[in-house]
Amino acid sequence: MKRIIFGILASAALTACGNKEENKISDMETKFNYDVEKFYDLQILRYQVPEFETLSLNQKMLIYHLSLAAEEGRDILFDQNCKYNLPIRRTLEAIYTEKIGADNVSEFEALEKYLKRVWFSNGIHHHYSCDKFLPDFSKDFFAECLNKLGDEKLTGMLASVCPGKSINEKKTMLMEVMFDSTLLAKRVNQADGQDLIETSANHYYDGVTQAEVEKFYDAMRDTTDKSPISYGLNSLLTKDDAGKLVEKVWKSGGMYGKAIDKIVGHLKDALPYAENDKQKHVIDLLIEFYNTGDLKKFDEYSIAWVADSTSKIDFVNGFIETYGDPLGLKASWESIVNFKNEKATKRTEVLSENAQWFEDNSPVDTKFKKKECKGVTAKVITTAILAGDCYPATPIGINLPNANWIRETYGSKSVTIENITYAYDQAAKGNGFKEEFVDNDADKEMIEKYGYITDNIHTDLHECLGHGSGQLLPGVSQDALKAYGATIEEARADLFGLYYAADPKMVELGLLPSAEAYKAEYYSYLMNGLMTQLVRINLGDQIEEAHMRNRALIAHWVYEKGTADKVVELEKRDGKTYVKINDYSKLRVLFGNLLAEIQRIKSEGDFEAARKLVENYAVNIDPDLHKEIKERYSKLNISPYKGFINPTYELVEKDGKIVDVKVDYKEGYAEQMLRYSKANNNVD
Ligand code: ZN
Repeated sequence: MKRIIFGILASAALTACGNKEENKISDMETKFNYDVEKFYDLQILRYQVPEFETLSLNQKMLIYHLSLAAEEGRDILFDQNCKYNLPIRRTLEAIYTEKIGADNVSEFEALEKYLKRVWFSNGIHHHYSCDKFLPDFSKDFFAECLNKLGDEKLTGMLASVCPGKSINEKKTMLMEVMFDSTLLAKRVNQADGQDLIETSANHYYDGVTQAEVEKFYDAMRDTTDKSPISYGLNSLLTKDDAGKLVEKVWKSGGMYGKAIDKIVGHLKDALPYAENDKQKHVIDLLIEFYNTGDLKKFDEYSIAWVADSTSKIDFVNGFIETYGDPLGLKASWESIVNFKNEKATKRTEVLSENAQWFEDNSPVDTKFKKKECKGVTAKVITTAILAGDCYPATPIGINLPNANWIRETYGSKSVTIENITYAYDQAAKGNGFKEEFVDNDADKEMIEKYGYITDNIHTDLHECLGHGSGQLLPGVSQDALKAYGATIEEARADLFGLYYAADPKMVELGLLPSAEAYKAEYYSYLMNGLMTQLVRINLGDQIEEAHMRNRALIAHWVYEKGTADKVVELEKRDGKTYVKINDYSKLRVLFGNLLAEIQRIKSEGDFEAARKLVENYAVNIDPDLHKEIKERYSKLNISPYKGFINPTYELVEKDGKIVDVKVDYKEGYAEQMLRYSKANNNVD
């Protein structure tokens, strides 16, 4: 559960405040066109890969092959998200590219828009809310398109839909899945008290109940094992013909074997370009893991990956994050290939070097603190490719591996993806957000001046120190907080960042230019948690996503606890609500208090306390405020969600020899998606 995603914050402009981090983007072109297109609540952006040209040919070739390996796993994620995703996407793509039904302009445009949304979400459920979205074209139109497409083509595309049934039955099923709002309504259901497995549309489980899953993995878990594997991480849990529970493991020769073999092929191509033996070893172990599906091997790989802190190029490729499984066991496939941003990394190196100081001085009870902070390696990176569950919607920071015992014994690697945060910031310039939601000139100025820097610092603190801090008491399981674990973990990391963003140590270490700078982050954070993140949620719905719950939890908790002292107020003027922070230093104390409590909950595995905190502060929404915020936001015409398309990499040959790799930004959104669908058609 270790990744941070972009909030809905007002991105501040870069300013000439004399901070040394300024020049980190000096090499970027200023006239780059970040904006690609908008549809529904989504905006597609481009990112730049600054300083790619300065890499050696070897390094470029390594990135090139690793990026091909990244592209091959896309269909795995589509299938993991819901078993009907691939047949639906392929059918839509066939209709779209053959322009079937195009003479009916409005219906065809609606189909195009729906397809773009399916691409963005890697399936038929909203990438963030997890709700199924419905087409805006009619069922009749679609049925007609299917008929024109012809059964011969459909037979191949719909092979996995109700196997053994007739083509007409398959077509009917496909349309029901697309058009019936009640069927497979939610990709990940977190609703307290329901069977989270049966009511979730994801394809990590098939035909099993939550009780069966919990029993199956409880029986497998050896609680005395000090180095437990990540049980169930890389498999589908289903029943065999005799009704016995079985795992279908994702590996070469197993489930997703075709895609995995192709990934392995590109990893092998990358091997000769490895920068050093450590990195070569990492790639070797990953190949072995993919070939065997052995989770012990995955741990070996993770340990080797953490140990490689010196290579310039780095990558993630595999079954990593478990947000898509309500029980947090099964991991979605993802990949990111990146290289170190040396200048900006100095910032995170300073944090890492002082990790023990931060741990020792945190407001957490001593028994929950790490006695010895091991190997918190943190760096700022430039991503070269985003794939799987990091594409097109992408995290801005990652902290891996996820296995607690590995983190405790070997440390973890933490990254901030700065060419992505920079692109967000640039794309948000002049969108009117700040002007609408911040009515106080002093706050506005503060955000203008320090918003971008403090946001980056908060991400650094969250990733390189927050997730890595603290320890579980002996015997407490990593999964003890169950469905609340992800929210509590994110809150822990965010609070660590908030608490320390205001510490004089930040200025002392040269990380922030002013002792006041943190106020920009405090204001933005509370405004987001109390109000503006609600723009992402439909009226009448509750907050469900772990990061959003975490922000709501923190904001509402400090708001409530500070009521007597009027630390934070919500003021209403002309029918508009604004956040007012009266006492920043008391606010910091409250963040510290909550951090101490959240760490206690995590360390003791106090499920009941976690449940209460989340259910009380992080789930429910004031309907009037919700309506007001959404109305104000909709007038600004900003897309609440953003995602990125990748650059393309092309080999440059001269006299039959590869002499360079060129990066190019011309490819469009549909163009890229269709290219991937064709080139990486890897899951049947
Ligand atoms: Zn996180």
